Amino acid sequence: MSDLDLVTVDDLTELRELLLSSPDASSLLTIDLREVVSGDGALATLPSILDRLAIDKGSSITVLSDTTPKRYHDMDVLDAVIEALDQTYRVDVVRVAPEPSAATVLADESTVAEVVERVRRRAPNCLVCVGSGTMVDIGKVVANELSLTHVVVQTAASVNGYADAHSVLLVKGVKRTTPSRWPDVLVIDPGAIARAPIAMTRSGLGDQISMFSAAADWYLSDAVGFDTSYSPTLASLIRRDFDELMAATGALGWGEPEAVSRLASCLTLGGLIMGVAGRTAPSSGAEHLISHLLEMHADAEGIPSASHGSQVGVASVVAAIIWRRVRERLCLGNVQVGATNVATREHVLNVFAPLDAAGALGQECWSAYERKATWIQHHLDDLRRVASEWPQHDEVIGQLLRPANFIATALRDAQAPISFDQLSPPPPANVVSWSLTYGHLLRDRFGVLDLAVLIGAWNPQDINEVLDELRELAL
Ligand SMILES: [Zn+2]
Repeated sequence: MSDLDLVTVDDLTELRELLLSSPDASSLLTIDLREVVSGDGALATLPSILDRLAIDKGSSITVLSDTTPKRYHDMDVLDAVIEALDQTYRVDVVRVAPEPSAATVLADESTVAEVVERVRRRAPNCLVCVGSGTMVDIGKVVANELSLTHVVVQTAASVNGYADAHSVLLVKGVKRTTPSRWPDVLVIDPGAIARAPIAMTRSGLGDQISMFSAAADWYLSDAVGFDTSYSPTLASLIRRDFDELMAATGALGWGEPEAVSRLASCLTLGGLIMGVAGRTAPSSGAEHLISHLLEMHADAEGIPSASHGSQVGVASVVAAIIWRRVRERLCLGNVQVGATNVATREHVLNVFAPLDAAGALGQECWSAYERKATWIQHHLDDLRRVASEWPQHDEVIGQLLRPANFIATALRDAQAPISFDQLSPPPPANVVSWSLTYGHLLRDRFGVLDLAVLIGAWNPQDINEVLDELRELAL
């Protein structure tokens, strides 16, 4: 019997104590996730999980899922969840189907509001959400709105957003990280996650590998004074188990259960770290901006986009290339930090007009970008100081980053896409260029794309060279 045959109930005491004793403890939020229950058979322990959550026997449980069949050993995961619960509880199922115009369920305003109402009408004592990224994002909002105890049964190791208090929602067509609520318990059963489509597991590696460029962006934002929340403790902790995961990328690529469980564990840690940071910055930088723009473009067209993590993986290679070029430029010295490149309202609205002719999407982006643009105008001296003191920052950033070929090799070993044309489906080349060119206009966080723009190192020529380098790495 291997360890994976055992169900482990982790009440996260060890992690809580480690964070409490860290130098950055005062700036970190508490972990309100009570347990991570993992291992083969974890799903069957749902009644004891609900018992520990003080849900009385005979209570009403709403199980929330989408309409996509998902395997659990040789049965459907939803049937397995119902079977585990319906001897002890009154179980009711809410299944969410994609809108006719969309390929998959979107976490947009109307879908979220409708699901909240459907669950509210059932007045359950507890919500059990069964699914992957988008469904769990919706489940966290429902649990928050209705103040419900919330158990998440994770069905794929596809993203790092399960174990935190944020949901990525589509607000006026814009991907927005929105505060929601920690789940009370996260259930990770290899009987489900190792049977998810292999592309979802490979996507999970792509989402996880964003931690390198994202942490560098987070540090930069702190260094210039835009967001001073950077935590060295969290930046270090998020990569604690990464070497072990790297040793298993080949096995991950064909879905070997132990490797998938290892990935799920890394993704959970990544989620917990975003949760205690109170922001997604530890694992969301330039690579996520590029991915979000690709997704928003596809959503606006009503066509499917490649999975979140697969896009983030490719964009993480891109972000590593961008970071190397920007560092090289700054290390040469004599860099001009100019405010002339800061976008105007008209420019932002024009960039996003093709996605929403009515302009609400562009206005949503401008409302976030405007704050950053104003901050830049008032802090040019701070930005110039960081540029002039670059070698001291470069040393820290160099330790946070990994080279593009390291990230590409990890993705290749797991048979995950490395370049945009390997995505399924591949986004059109002009949309890829658009997402790289305008990623920094999406939100009010400062990162490498903003710095590249301000030092005049983000012109069409630069973008072409980055994409050429990406293509060469993928050969
Ligand atoms: Zn992500």
